[in-house]
Amino acid sequence: MRKRNTKFIFVTGGVMSSLGKGLASACIGALLEARGISISIQKLDPYINVDPGTMNPYQHGEVFVTDDGAETDLDLGHYERFTNVKLSQSNNVTTGRVYNEVISKERRGDYLGQTVQVIPHITDEIISRVYDLQGKTDISIVEIGGTVGDIESLPYLEAIRQIRTQLGKENALFVHLTYVPYIAAAGELKTKPTQHSVKDLLQIGIQPDILLCRTDRFLSNELKKKIALFCNLNVESVVTAKDVDIIYEVPLIFHKEGLDDIILESLKIWTKEPDLSKWENIVTKIKKLKNNVTIGVVGKYIDLKDAYKSLHEALYHASYEANSNLSIKYIDSEDLEQSSPKKLLEGCDGILVPGGFGDRGFEGKISAIQYARENNIPFFGICLGLQMAVIEFARNVCSIKDAQTRESKKRSKNYIIDIMESQKKIGSKGGTMRLGQYPCELKKSSLAYSAYKKAKISERHRHRYEVNPKYHEKLKKSGLILSGLSPDGTLVETVEIKNHKWFLACQFHPEFKSKPFSAHPLFREFVKASLK
Ligand code: GLN
Repeated sequence: MRKRNTKFIFVTGGVMSSLGKGLASACIGALLEARGISISIQKLDPYINVDPGTMNPYQHGEVFVTDDGAETDLDLGHYERFTNVKLSQSNNVTTGRVYNEVISKERRGDYLGQTVQVIPHITDEIISRVYDLQGKTDISIVEIGGTVGDIESLPYLEAIRQIRTQLGKENALFVHLTYVPYIAAAGELKTKPTQHSVKDLLQIGIQPDILLCRTDRFLSNELKKKIALFCNLNVESVVTAKDVDIIYEVPLIFHKEGLDDIILESLKIWTKEPDLSKWENIVTKIKKLKNNVTIGVVGKYIDLKDAYKSLHEALYHASYEANSNLSIKYIDSEDLEQSSPKKLLEGCDGILVPGGFGDRGFEGKISAIQYARENNIPFFGICLGLQMAVIEFARNVCSIKDAQTRESKKRSKNYIIDIMESQKKIGSKGGTMRLGQYPCELKKSSLAYSAYKKAKISERHRHRYEVNPKYHEKLKKSGLILSGLSPDGTLVETVEIKNHKWFLACQFHPEFKSKPFSAHPLFREFVKASLK
């Protein structure tokens, strides 16, 4: 491969969190790709966990899993959905990982004689991880997690300040996302938070080159001029990042505002005009959807939509292909333990039980699955959803009344879902599950095969427990179809039942590989079946 002179775009965030820095970084990537530029995207996260794998989804949202089994920040999901990048462990750097490395080096004696400090040792470690992606693509977009002003982000900001000094402004660009609120009482958009946020950056030696202003309406030229004046910028470098209903419209809005032009001009890169047709087509399509479909998602983390980010998007991708407006009804699995499934699931055209950890709500999930199975409602189980579906089948079809998973606190003689020998020896919790891409072979004439249209597939995993091989025969005899297995036949990857509209569960997480322009085959078929 030709070694490239990779240029860097650093994306920082100001004022407050949740302004959509991840989405903005992904959309910058999409616009650059539309011009034929090769990119990579990296996220630098300021927390001390080595990765988000051990964090509660309520705190941090979904854990996104890459092919190589990295448990990463959910923003990496945006990066893969909006661009063609293939991400891996090196695309997500955390403070935990950086300190881990520096402390190991210190113990090894690599710094003999020196006092190990944040500057230069921690910052050098960060810089080396940013440079790890050098030479591979034309541009590397680097998103800094957190908000400017946080204590935790300081070493990262110092690191990117140094990189800019090393590479010069034609090779390293600072994009800063801020907030321009509309104050209804004054009838005005306010620029002060942006001015302060830029001041914070200036204090640590960073002059942003481009401001992305998150706001609910387009900024007038007057207002842009005012922001530009106070923040030492040209007016063209002040870009509206307007709220949208359809996130796939963001690349188009950024382009209309001239963002890609100004980025490329600053980095002195000349390209063809962008081909944005696929974005235009998808947005036009979404605005004209005809049918309606309601999917019930029975889970535990339903108060925070970010906990099921990829799942949420994958359902939307599938509904676009089905020319259908989607409404997702999130149902708390614990509520299903108090109330009848009919009452809570009424009106759902399809029922989905997603992944999850810990036994809270297990019985509610099982009763939702029983309801879907017995009432011929399309059902899709993912990871924990497969495990619960197999337990439901074992209890209610195979008459193994105490069928259980070892993840439950309830003791049982029949662990239909169990921990494998290899997992038993593992003591620590971080990064020790079955993680990342694994192959699977599908039975011809199965629902799974007809969705993928091929027998050999591979999908991403993130779980500790498996269907217990001791019960495979018994389950099969009672009619459970083990339609996808690991190549050696020991691990169950997909299950189905006969004589049902559509009933399929998988041990892997297909949602991580769904794209707006090509829905994942299983999601596509599930939504299609739900529409019928
Ligand atoms: N808790 C289950 C396991 O560890 C399922 C995990 C998941 O749904 N991702 O096997």
